[in-house]
Amino acid sequence: MIDQKELQAKLRKEYYNRVFSPDVIRKMVKAGMPIHFSGNYVLDEVVQWIDYKQSEIDGLEIGSIYTNNELVEIFVISNQGGMRRSHVTNSLVIFSDHTKMYDDKWYENILHYTGMGQNGNQDIMFGQNKTLLESNTNGISVYLFESFKSGKHTFVGQIKLVAEPYQATQKGQDGSERLVWIFPVQPLTDQFIEKEIIEVNQEDKEGEAAKLSIEELKKKALEANQKPGSRTTSATTYERDPFIAEFTKRRANGICDLCNLHAPFNNKIGDPYLESHHIEWLSKGGEDSIENTVALCPNCHKKMHIVNDLRDVRSLKEKYKSI
Ligand SMILES: [Zn+2]
Ligand SMILES: [Zn+2]
Repeated sequence: MIDQKELQAKLRKEYYNRVFSPDVIRKMVKAGMPIHFSGNYVLDEVVQWIDYKQSEIDGLEIGSIYTNNELVEIFVISNQGGMRRSHVTNSLVIFSDHTKMYDDKWYENILHYTGMGQNGNQDIMFGQNKTLLESNTNGISVYLFESFKSGKHTFVGQIKLVAEPYQATQKGQDGSERLVWIFPVQPLTDQFIEKEIIEVNQEDKEGEAAKLSIEELKKKALEANQKPGSRTTSATTYERDPFIAEFTKRRANGICDLCNLHAPFNNKIGDPYLESHHIEWLSKGGEDSIENTVALCPNCHKKMHIVNDLRDVRSLKEKYKSI
């Protein structure tokens, strides 16, 4: 058994770049670090506990969604803020919130992350801005989460600062312009989050934009950054049997199975252009079979993917039975 002073000294030796102040020890005990009735510690137990906390962090899955409470417990961080420092797990957790209209942008897989400070000019030496600025040398691990729905945090991975932070003009929460610091950060691994998550977020934002007046829209459209954001995402591709697709088009003989009109144009080799569509979507467990496949004109195909009207679904299901 050793007392707190000895424990601090031993931990500093074991983890040379970490802080073990009495306050940090108190937080560790509060987070579950073993302490004995005498108020003393067993070094092995403490080291085991620190390793256990790290294994919880290492067990986070890229692309999975975590709640705020889960992250507070795993990282031992406070329950709010865009950048949260944990002395207990020696980490910095940064959050990029895409539920707001204006937010951090990805350019070629680098996230341009806006630092801390909601109003007034941001100070790069203030709070966690400084921690992130020095993160390539201070031994602190930085983890990134993005929210596409409020309260749901998608794990993007451990990240590092990949270029010098730079200043930009952005509106604060009070609506007035100020200087902010932008940190170019990039995940350490090439594991990307699902394309669908990004697309749904894009649609949600367009839905929000639809609530504005045409004057407000024009103002915001003119203010918008003209450089389009870009990031690599992962997508699941369903393989479709080429014989089923071709049979379906041949069967349809140039006539759309939904609107019963002729294909609107011919393809390059002069065949009527129709697209094959699965009535029950493959992504929702539908079968790749002749019964579940129809040939649609591009308009009707889009309509099925946007509206998927049950009456249309029913009429398409009848189609194959009638031939
Ligand atoms: Zn059609
Ligand atoms: Zn389709």
